Amino acid sequence: MNKGLLILISAPSGAGKTSLVSEIIDRDDQLIKSVSHTTRAKRPGEEEKIDYFFTTEKEFNRMVSNSDFIEHAAVFGNFYGTSKNYVEENLDSGLDVVLEIDWQGAQQLQSVMPDAISIFIAPPTKQELENRLRKRGKDSEETISIRLSQASSDMKKAINYNYVVINDSFETATNQLLTIINAERLKTSHQIKSNETLASLLSPK
Ligand code: 5GP
Repeated sequence: MNKGLLILISAPSGAGKTSLVSEIIDRDDQLIKSVSHTTRAKRPGEEEKIDYFFTTEKEFNRMVSNSDFIEHAAVFGNFYGTSKNYVEENLDSGLDVVLEIDWQGAQQLQSVMPDAISIFIAPPTKQELENRLRKRGKDSEETISIRLSQASSDMKKAINYNYVVINDSFETATNQLLTIINAERLKTSHQIKSNETLASLLSPK
């Protein structure tokens, strides 16, 4: 069985990452999204096990000591982590796993899983980012201003990602994400692991 691709997607808060990720998951049956654990409070409309596993700090720390996370980080004063079992089981079953994580988590994973594909989603402008954060109406003024000042430094991290997608038009950005993923699936180095005929054709006699 071919191992799936690990796809890391990061963006400054408000760039539209969550909507884009759910769109690509809906459109592509081979993609699955990893649901993270977080100590952050649930926002209106969010659901347990769909958006996050909402956990206490005590439980989160227990999972850290147990090495249950493949990566974890503190973001805006809350803890977030990705379940190691969930990712490994799905990759082993051949699914391509999408992680919506911040740059710290992406950096941790890039060093332990160098084959991971990293994609940074950027807003078209800083003003547009501010408009989107206000429009979603889920955060307080204080949170919005913290997230905006963080956005500029987050943007500088884009240089460490394999790809950058600018989310100006939602449809274009969705298609670009799917194009990247499909091209990665077609890479010789990836196909050779799953396709025995191709592997034998390409191996030296
Ligand atoms: P939010 O609280 O807005 O849902 O997420 C805040 C930030 O935490 C976002 O950049 C999001 O991608 C990141 N995040 C969500 N889950 C994880 C995770 O499991 N690990 C890491 N490192 N970051 C995460």
